[in-house]
Amino acid sequence: MKYDYLIVGSGLFGSIFAYEANKAGKKCLVIEKRSHIGGNIYTENIEGIQVHKYGAHIFHTSNKEVWQYINQFAEFNRYTNSPVARYKDELYNMPFNMNTFNKLWGVITPSEAKAKIEEEKKEAGITEPKNLEEQAISLVGKTIYEKLVKGYTEKQWGKRATELPSFIIKRLPVRFIYDNNYFNDKYQGIPIGGYTRNNRKNARWNRSEIRL
Ligand SMILES: Cc1cc2nc3c(=O)[nH]c(=O)nc-3n(C[C@H](O)[C@H](O)[C@H](O)COP(=O)(O)OP(=O)(O)OC[C@H]3O[C@@H](n4cnc5c(N)ncnc54)[C@H](O)[C@@H]3O)c2cc1C
Repeated sequence: MKYDYLIVGSGLFGSIFAYEANKAGKKCLVIEKRSHIGGNIYTENIEGIQVHKYGAHIFHTSNKEVWQYINQFAEFNRYTNSPVARYKDELYNMPFNMNTFNKLWGVITPSEAKAKIEEEKKEAGITEPKNLEEQAISLVGKTIYEKLVKGYTEKQWGKRATELPSFIIKRLPVRFIYDNNYFNDKYQGIPIGGYTRNNRKNARWNRSEIRL
């Protein structure tokens, strides 16, 4: 069997490429080293719950054409990603916004929040950060760093923030509005029934390869 394209990986990129090439009359072979399709967006139905095996995935775009394109493959739910971070038994909205600052310090207005951050930055007096900890404190002050940056960063890197170089964090986005929406994009959602509901009408799939 001869193919026009050999596509390595059945993630979003490989799948879409294979789908479009096939539509254009090309023969494609997709090979995949995992035991399933979909790459990182793979979802598994476990007792009626769509489990995102490689971490939660929310499809988001501001491009109407992209949104309309992707909707041909699945119906998306109405979802706004508004994560909550837990520090000990305190819950905070992410990314940092006025709801977060209100809970941290009881401030109400953006100028009060800005003043509080500036006060903490000044107190720390860091002009040349020597490591990630100092860099973060110089950007957002001690309270936000200790409650919302330190634990997450150290877990992610498996190292103390004082042992990590400062260049890892260039900026920490802070929003002075009451909006918990994580994404700025116009469209966002998760496919009802998951990203990888069986839908292989024209494909032959034998665990490691798909022929289109
Ligand atoms: C925890 C997490 C959360 C995320 N959340 C979001 C989100 O909410 N929204 C968003 O837009 N993006 C999110 N992303 C990013 C998103 O996962 C990627 O942008 C997207 O999945 C990339 O698709 P891809 O096809 O390029 O790669 P992948 O999904 O990585 O697919 C690549 C595939 O190729 C296979 N492969 C690689 N090498 C070989 C080989 N040599 N032989 C055979 N097969 C091979 C792999 O097994 C894999 O299945 C997140 C990523 C992570 C890790």
